[in-house]
Amino acid sequence: MTGHTVETLTSRDPATGEILREIPLTPIEALPAIFQKARAAQSIWAMTPLKQRAQLLIQLREALVNHVDDITDLIVRENGKPRFEAMAHELIPSADLATFFSKRGPKALSDRRIPLSLMKHRKSTLNYWPLGVVAVITPWNYPFLLPWGEIVMALISGNAIIFKPSEITPLVGLKIQALIDEAGFPPDLVQTLIGDGKLGAAIIQNKPNKIFFTGSVATGKTIMRAASEHLIPVSLELGGKDAMLVLPDADLDFASSAALWGAYTNSGQMCASVERILVHENHEAEFTRLLANKLAKLRQGNSNSGDNDLGVVTFSKQKDVYDRQLAQARSHGVEFVTGGDWNADRTALRPTILKGKDLESSIAYREETFGPTVAIATYRSLNEAVKKSNDSQYGLLGSVITRDLSLGDRVARQLEVGTVTINEVCYTAGLPETPWGGLKDSGIGRTHSEMGLHEFVNIRHIHRPRARFLVFKSLWWFPYTTFQYATFRQMFGLYRKHWLDKLRAIPHILWNLAQMIKLEKRL
Ligand code: NAD
Repeated sequence: MTGHTVETLTSRDPATGEILREIPLTPIEALPAIFQKARAAQSIWAMTPLKQRAQLLIQLREALVNHVDDITDLIVRENGKPRFEAMAHELIPSADLATFFSKRGPKALSDRRIPLSLMKHRKSTLNYWPLGVVAVITPWNYPFLLPWGEIVMALISGNAIIFKPSEITPLVGLKIQALIDEAGFPPDLVQTLIGDGKLGAAIIQNKPNKIFFTGSVATGKTIMRAASEHLIPVSLELGGKDAMLVLPDADLDFASSAALWGAYTNSGQMCASVERILVHENHEAEFTRLLANKLAKLRQGNSNSGDNDLGVVTFSKQKDVYDRQLAQARSHGVEFVTGGDWNADRTALRPTILKGKDLESSIAYREETFGPTVAIATYRSLNEAVKKSNDSQYGLLGSVITRDLSLGDRVARQLEVGTVTINEVCYTAGLPETPWGGLKDSGIGRTHSEMGLHEFVNIRHIHRPRARFLVFKSLWWFPYTTFQYATFRQMFGLYRKHWLDKLRAIPHILWNLAQMIKLEKRL
């Protein structure tokens, strides 16, 4: 017998380069059988009552809680983020997502009545039913939380899931699969496949019923093009270049602390990271001084120690992005308030603040960096601040810092983004109750909340008579006749502005209707 070598993917600790595990790749040829198994599992799962699905989500949460420390360790090792971030920013929201969708899911997915104004004798109902087999393709920056949220919503809504974690964090993906198995979900309902973009592309060619993608704009566009061949719907959660607006009345200590966390949490490797800060020109110097002082106190380093604030660069290709943007900024004459260089073993970019008059035309200001850098620009009027904030190809999140909450509200309503946080930054990405998603290059669709849940179902509108005795041939059916025409013509009276005119129309409608019923039989 000739043995053939199994191709593998190497998972590494980005802080040390140590190999964590060699994992067999999912062969592309195996996909048809994988999809077939998923379809078989889904057809049974779709018939499982919502209450039972919700109970299994609670089991899943239980499995998560039982393994919090192991999962935290694994996220830290494979992603390189600080322990606190792995535990608090990924696992707490994950437990919360399972809780919310197990409670809210059954109600949100139950039939909903639509009140009808004219057709009082009819009943319209919205009936939600599963899409079938959905593909969940995710990145490496929140390797647990992002797929977990999509999988939880897909499960409660009755779908099977083909899950492809990022090739940079496959072990965290496999951990999610282990928890699903431990919770007791039916076999093959969730299948985690290991591979890179080639496998992702092949998954699409196997025609899932919908693709839930989180990742870069470039990949999002490639996926949408491929999906269009088969008319597969897509949900795309893509990048951002989010702006924080520090209004003139803001408390600068508070604003600089918000900016510090918003720009540097997860070492800036967050879609909703604060990458641009707009400060009134009179306050820029003081704001920058406060931010730089606070930044100097953050501890960056090997995250396995557990007492750092900033981790390492998870995906080494990102280093090229930082180098390219920072080199261009330097040659452009942008001022580096701090940072811009690497630590000794080049695993982490020192946290960077950019500013200056040439900043706004630099690529570091315009393109997503996805790293520990922030660009501080100034404005003279609120109009200018809003205009600058909206002057971006992205539209994911904006934040406003102010003491005046109603002014904050007014400014929020002018920002072209999916979410605006006032006196907060980024964190609503982890809230189960509120929708998350962007516009422009930041993507299509919403995740989380009831709105996000409804992205996982087909909507069937069922329209029927209220009762058996209300079954009769409709007035607009064939043949088209004189009194039928007159009845419908008189109905325009009901659309008059004045109530008296509406009232006057009624006898005419009723008289014509009576003639029609008496003299003109429907076929
Ligand atoms: P990426 O686009 O390189 O990869 C994401 C996933 O897509 C990976 O699993 C990858 O293997 C897969 N993939 C690559 N090519 C594919 C193809 N042709 N067909 C199918 N799948 C393919 O992104 P990344 O570097 O892993 O993640 C960083 C990006 O993700 C950033 O731009 C960030 O802003 C974005 N992001 C967005 C959100 C959000 O909620 N909007 C959240 C997190 C990250």
